[in-house]
Amino acid sequence: MTHPTSNIRLFNTLTRQKESFSPINPGEVRMYTCGPTVYDYAHIGNFRAFLFEDLLKRWLKHRGFKVFQVMNVTDIDDKTIKGAQKQQIPLKQYTEHYAKAFFEDAKALNIEPADVYPRATEHIPEMVSLIKTLIAKGFAYKSEDGSIYYAISKFPEYGKLSHLKTQELKAGARVKVDEYAKEEAQDFALWKAWTPEDGEIFWETPLGKGRPGWHIECSAMSMKYLGETFDIHCGGIDNMFPHHENEIAQSEAATGKPFVHVWMHNEHLMVEGRKMAKRFGNFYTLRDLLAKNCDPKAIRYLLLSTHYRQQFNFTFEGLEAAKGAIERLTNLMRRLHDADGKGNGAKISQLIVKVQGCFGEAMDDDLNISVALASLFEFARDVNNLLDADELSKAEAEKVYALMEDFDKVLGVVGKIEEEKLPKEAALLIQKREEARKAKDWKTADEIRQQLKTMGFVIEDTAQGVRWRKEKA
Ligand code: AMP
Ligand code: ZN
Repeated sequence: MTHPTSNIRLFNTLTRQKESFSPINPGEVRMYTCGPTVYDYAHIGNFRAFLFEDLLKRWLKHRGFKVFQVMNVTDIDDKTIKGAQKQQIPLKQYTEHYAKAFFEDAKALNIEPADVYPRATEHIPEMVSLIKTLIAKGFAYKSEDGSIYYAISKFPEYGKLSHLKTQELKAGARVKVDEYAKEEAQDFALWKAWTPEDGEIFWETPLGKGRPGWHIECSAMSMKYLGETFDIHCGGIDNMFPHHENEIAQSEAATGKPFVHVWMHNEHLMVEGRKMAKRFGNFYTLRDLLAKNCDPKAIRYLLLSTHYRQQFNFTFEGLEAAKGAIERLTNLMRRLHDADGKGNGAKISQLIVKVQGCFGEAMDDDLNISVALASLFEFARDVNNLLDADELSKAEAEKVYALMEDFDKVLGVVGKIEEEKLPKEAALLIQKREEARKAKDWKTADEIRQQLKTMGFVIEDTAQGVRWRKEKA
């Protein structure tokens, strides 16, 4: 059996370098992507992360790899508990509502489903077992209140992902909350002993009555489904510390093996130039945008079209431009669908080779999407020129159409091209124009053509009769 050999290079946060990528099992990539914390509707920053991961997965598949993706659902942590208690409903009822919403949103954005979506609350035994191993190996200890902490001083490589300096480590000091700053690197909670504030939310386990810390959840679930060492682990940059740093410490201390080969982190999404925050009035969930009638395809395109390691600034103008870009691709595909010109010799083959090369090279280079898209739009322009000159035969057009479909499998923004219906009014005008032309009334025919143009329809008189298309955006 032959396996894809790729020229893919990925930026590894561990080494801060682009590295040639080859998976542990030839031909198959095993990846873990930190999923949503289901305490609220996911915001567009979250979806930047999920869309980057979707693009990565689609590109790996495009290059011939099988991809096995695990995305967890964090349904127990400080935030979900707080939310459920505020609403005075059981945790499960609270989180299931947002989990369901997340799946609907991901579908609206055409994100390919992961292979497994493990929920943290369904993996408590795996977490307990991992914590027991850490205690047995001397990496974890019980504090006075019964909570169990990870002793960062016992793991000499602690800090290797986020490049912490040893003097920044406050070993022995303890942090119980799930989220804290790099400056507060200290022993963190693996298991949180029950306190009255936890109310009904606890598990009776050999570790005592309590609940897991957030970080142990991802170590336990990733290794359960992907093995002790796997290829790629992704998340937003905010997850690098403490979450991913702690995942490495937990997993590698327990197994004595490298946890993950390539760590990939997307940069933040900002809105209108600043950090997204409710108090700035620039905080949007996907649902907020859909309620404003924003097109999910345009949102997808916009969030994908900036390189994942660059900060990205979301604006509504950007969304309009994204819509225009998708229309250009869609219109080209419609034109290709109808094309039946005279052919152009080697020209189109050269264009195809060029775009395949440029798009592929750019994407292989750590998903350089902006360069890839630029080459695609240059190709679209050149093909439109050939179509304008009626220089694309049916067979050639079919070839280009198939190629565009291939690109769209990666981008996921065009989808099925629906046969476009001509509005009644426009159809009537075309008919009138035909009558005028028959009567050699060129003036009226031209006026009608102009009128159709203002309605957004371009009319072409071809040997096969009148053709119409929507004007290119
Ligand atoms: P959460 O639901 O908070 O656990 O986050 C889900 C994913 O979204 C994680 O990979 C986060 O790192 C990522 N994320 C959160 N906020 C942003 C943001 N503003 N921009 C980009 N990614 C983000
Ligand atoms: Zn995680």
